[in-house]
Amino acid sequence: MLTAAVIGAGMAGILAAIRLDQSGIACDVYEKGDSVGGTWRENTYPGIACDVAAHWYTYNFARNPEWDSLMAKGEDIRAYFEHVASDFGVLEKIRFNDEVVLLRYDAGRWHLETASGHRADYDIVIAATGVLHHPNIPDFAGIDTFRGAVFHSARWDHGVPLDGKNIGIIGNGSTAAQLVSALVEGAKRLDLYQRTAQWVMPRDNIPYSEEEKALFRKDPAALEALIRELRSKTLNGYAAAVIDVSSPEYRALEQVAQDNLATVKDAALRERLTPDYKVACKRLVISSTFYDAIQHPNARLVTSPIERIEPEGVRTADGNLHELDVLVLATGFQVDRFIRPTRVIGPGGLDLDDVWAEGPLAYLSMSVAGFPNFFLLNGPNSPVGNFSLVEVAQHQIEYILQLVDGIRTGHYREIAATPEAMRRFEEERCEAAKKTVWVTGCDSWYLDKKGVPASWTFSYDRFVQEAAHPRMQDYETR
Ligand code: NAP
Repeated sequence: MLTAAVIGAGMAGILAAIRLDQSGIACDVYEKGDSVGGTWRENTYPGIACDVAAHWYTYNFARNPEWDSLMAKGEDIRAYFEHVASDFGVLEKIRFNDEVVLLRYDAGRWHLETASGHRADYDIVIAATGVLHHPNIPDFAGIDTFRGAVFHSARWDHGVPLDGKNIGIIGNGSTAAQLVSALVEGAKRLDLYQRTAQWVMPRDNIPYSEEEKALFRKDPAALEALIRELRSKTLNGYAAAVIDVSSPEYRALEQVAQDNLATVKDAALRERLTPDYKVACKRLVISSTFYDAIQHPNARLVTSPIERIEPEGVRTADGNLHELDVLVLATGFQVDRFIRPTRVIGPGGLDLDDVWAEGPLAYLSMSVAGFPNFFLLNGPNSPVGNFSLVEVAQHQIEYILQLVDGIRTGHYREIAATPEAMRRFEEERCEAAKKTVWVTGCDSWYLDKKGVPASWTFSYDRFVQEAAHPRMQDYETR
């Protein structure tokens, strides 16, 4: 029986374990944390929710008729993944609290080592380590001198009281928008330190009635019809818009964001909230509450650049000291890490860190030339955006299982993308990037060091088509 190691027990790792098991491949899952859920385990900040429709953000073999509203709370999403992992027998396969530090390909197998010294060999490795995983902690001068509590949004300290406190939030991405909405009411004062204004799309979080939930329970076809509708609305609107700024879909998207901004009553505040780049160049913030929250009497938008952190609070370039009790770094993530810092050494000593020295690449986001039987879920250049990464991972695992099937049936022992396929994919991807909104004059986590979008730059339909069946001529087998 073939064996596989799955790295990570988040949404994609749970999926991989289930599908490997169903395909007759024995697998162990390695998880450095103490529970499943990945991003939904790590991010527990007040107000956390998923701005992708909850029903669409589920595995197609484990739908959940119980969602309370269009967009679910973080804790409910985490509970969903915990339930699925339990129901499908994944929990027994997971080695918790042990980080994989080394993967070395030797004599046709992957040798794995963990931080605790555990060793094992596998035929196949699937990296399901997530994208938004390693917090980006900017090096603010004086941050160590701050007398209050300071932490990153993905490392929330629930022991720190917030009610009646002066709270500062650095950053104004999707995370900060949710935080401001959740905290402004209870805070004495809430400062939002904005370096670059963001476009905000309204989306009401419509609740599902008990009747609707009963219908979804009784009639899975009705639930699937809803998911098809949610899916096609997003794909025909947002996903089509961002890859072509001259499209009617893009103009429609732009209008909604501009109209939303126009709802900010105070002209001076509106001016400061107005981005100087195109709608959706950065990932859209989806929120029907953010503009109200930032206009709340407790809220202050601070746009003077942060000069340093002092014991009492934040000193901005205009000379003002903003006294704070709590400082939250909603400053995003290092998005080019993927499986790293785990060392991955392929045949002949080829080091993944060297191959990715200029930035992470993978053929169709799943296979790296020179690294046989090593696959990634939601890997480099995978589709990201305001749509369901669960669905993306499902397409990818089915594709990977087709590649693995050739090993299982003895057609070959090793498989990896050819260097030529990787090069061609990358060239086409960079060419397609030129038409996307992400290169229209803003900085964002979508762009790599060279300013090229690191994500899937083609249509979502192309992703679905490419992921349907491997083109075997793009693979080297032995
Ligand atoms: P982010 O979008 O990367 O935003 C980071 C923020 O921190 C930006 O406003 C950035 O300003 C600011 N920042 C970074 N370094 C700074 C510095 N040195 N000084 C001042 N400001 C600094 O991070 P995020 O809000 O955590 O969101 C990351 C991604 O997570 C999202 O794009 C989304 O994909 C996902 N997410 C999703 C949801 C959801 O509901 N589905 C919710 C939260 C997060 P600049 O813009 O000037 O760089």
